[in-house]
Amino acid sequence: MSLNNDSILKLVKLTDTNLHVLDIYSERKRGVTSQVIEATLSYPLTHCPHCHSKALIRNGYRLAHAKLPSINGDPIRLLVHKQRYLCHTCGHTCGARSSNLKFNHTLTPGVAQQTIKLAKQSLAGTTIAALTGISNTSAARIINAEVHRPYRLKKLPENLCFDEFRSTGKHMSFICCDADSHRLVVTLPG
Ligand SMILES: [Zn+2]
Repeated sequence: MSLNNDSILKLVKLTDTNLHVLDIYSERKRGVTSQVIEATLSYPLTHCPHCHSKALIRNGYRLAHAKLPSINGDPIRLLVHKQRYLCHTCGHTCGARSSNLKFNHTLTPGVAQQTIKLAKQSLAGTTIAALTGISNTSAARIINAEVHRPYRLKKLPENLCFDEFRSTGKHMSFICCDADSHRLVVTLPG
């Protein structure tokens, strides 16, 4: 099968050019069918992050999993072979990192973006979880992290702008910002 690496990655909101797609297949586990994108993550590492030595060699791969944004409701998983490196000077090993994959975190930024987008359409948490292929708890955590809570200020800006905006579906929120710097002062959910 001929695969166009960049367009597949773009489809699931991955932008790291060090990711190279190896295969795409369906997998059925506990009654749920997922699409799996198998890829490698590798790049030439010039310095050891521990001792800055240049005496590095490639030292196999470690498998990692991540959740990607769903396209038609089916969960999409990334199975990534991350390059390992071994330093001959200090003996430490380290792994390839990607801006698309948070260290020790299985949710990619694309999943978070998709969750927020659905939350803004006033969908229930369980529906969002089903559409994105993540758990209710993960969906709630992403949404809560996005909500800006009001906080106290020592001094209010001289000129303030007030407005209301459609935040989640038909609900309106209150927004207040500094008229000069356009810095957000407070948002209150409707
Ligand atoms: Zn080293």
